[in-house]
Amino acid sequence: MINREKLSALYAREQETFAERNPKSKAAYQNANHLFGKVPMTWMNKKAGGFPIYFDRAVGNRIWDIDGHEYIDFALGDTGAMAGHSAPAVVDAITNQVKDKGGLTVMLPTEDAEWVARNLTERFGMTKWSFSLTATDANRWAIRLVRAITGKPKILFNAYCYHGSVDEALIVVGPDGEGMSRPGNVGSPVDVTMTSRVAEFNDLEGLERQLKNGDVAAVLMEPALTNIGIVLPEPGYLAGVRELTRKYDALLIIDETHTFSAGYGGMTKRDGLQPDVFVIGKAIAGGIPTGTYGLSETFAEKVLSRTDLDLVDMGGVGGTLAGNPLQVAAMRATLEHVLTEDNFKYMIDLATVFTDGVDELFTRYNLPWSINQLGARAEYRFAKPYPKNGTDAYESADAELEDFLHLYLVNRGILLTPFHNMALMCPTTTLADVEKHNAVFEDAIKELVG
Ligand code: PMP
Repeated sequence: MINREKLSALYAREQETFAERNPKSKAAYQNANHLFGKVPMTWMNKKAGGFPIYFDRAVGNRIWDIDGHEYIDFALGDTGAMAGHSAPAVVDAITNQVKDKGGLTVMLPTEDAEWVARNLTERFGMTKWSFSLTATDANRWAIRLVRAITGKPKILFNAYCYHGSVDEALIVVGPDGEGMSRPGNVGSPVDVTMTSRVAEFNDLEGLERQLKNGDVAAVLMEPALTNIGIVLPEPGYLAGVRELTRKYDALLIIDETHTFSAGYGGMTKRDGLQPDVFVIGKAIAGGIPTGTYGLSETFAEKVLSRTDLDLVDMGGVGGTLAGNPLQVAAMRATLEHVLTEDNFKYMIDLATVFTDGVDELFTRYNLPWSINQLGARAEYRFAKPYPKNGTDAYESADAELEDFLHLYLVNRGILLTPFHNMALMCPTTTLADVEKHNAVFEDAIKELVG
């Protein structure tokens, strides 16, 4: 379908354009000698153009780089900036905390924390909340708690899930149908099969086979996979997971760090999910580092009744800066004023325009690709129909094609998420922005298959 020679030539042309357009970013990268991998985080090397564009400033859904180019930002910090960059209400709250009130990290609670927890309860239904600085940490602590309460050693994940840098989660389904270490896993403390089990998303039989072993403390999952495309649950799948976890006495941890895009209360509220533990991070503090986990009433009571567990001192649930006044003020502002019911509706409507437009292009140009939408986010994959589990989604990746499309868009002022073909809407994204994306995307397709 795709002429690979043509693709390579087009990609080379876009790389040349990128280098010419971005001399300052190129020089900054060339001159970076003290950073491990030349960038502050090694994953910033995920760059289609040979070097990253360097950030200058941002507001709403716009980013400017140090070469002066303006971008429509559909990456939005891979969800961390779903509220838009520097949303005015968040800026006011942060400025007030920094300048007027003072005190950025104090090891004391603020009254806002209870407001935030109440709002999280209204959205996601869990009754007790605790804060962390990242969703990774929230997941790690959730894992400790479920192990402590069930006395069982293993956590079950979906293949090709991502829940942050959580050792237990780096497991995929091997050729024999059992778990094996995800290729490339860095420095795992023990063989991952000692701590974890794995089943494909949308595979209730595989899940039951694993749960039957009786050693699974909890299933930790996203209600739709979002880190390997957007793999949506088949009808009945999530209800089936809940039924099987109850049948085999395993708890259910739902991580809605990304699937929050589904709406005001994420998929949990929208689809009536009933987790025992709920994890969310990224977007809910408007860009300030955050994470939280919520416990159901029953599970919270079980944890609190265990007086042998050291929940106050060094028992393993820590984070000196977690719940600091700045983080909590940012969460309150974001939840109260930015990620509101009305704004979600607006963002979801725009994502539908994005999705329908891209879908129409795939049909018109007869491409064997497909796009899925989850509320305010949409992501296409080079397969049709859209893959139904993580391994199939992984296998549908096409690195060169993805890099070409990303770079084509970047060279014309549009940013997609670097690890994905994902576009996310924020409250300041406009219809014109979506239309511009769809027009430029069509130009790229025309060059490729025209
Ligand atoms: N959970 C999910 C579902 C995620 O997608 C991610 C990050 N992409 C995380 C957790 C980890 O978030 P953080 O990087 O804030 O720790």
